[in-house]
Amino acid sequence: MDEVKFCDDCSKLISTEYNYCPWCGKKRERSMDLPSLLEQAMGSLEKIQMEDRLDNLAKLEDSLDSLEGEINAFLSKTR
Ligand SMILES: [Zn+2]
Repeated sequence: MDEVKFCDDCSKLISTEYNYCPWCGKKRERSMDLPSLLEQAMGSLEKIQMEDRLDNLAKLEDSLDSLEGEINAFLSKTR
């Protein structure tokens, strides 16, 4: 089941599998390629977001550590 789109240049129906329009030779817009679009959009922010994520993970780990301690304390009381 091929996905199709209309060529931006000649408006003919082409398969998204083609990198170039077979009718007029125009290169398909990369913006139609969602993974590439995401990759491009994320690229500049990725480093900052990764740092934020690592920071959040570190905080989450601290929370889990204290939570684990509380749970263990609670369980040891009930045993
Ligand atoms: Zn075309």
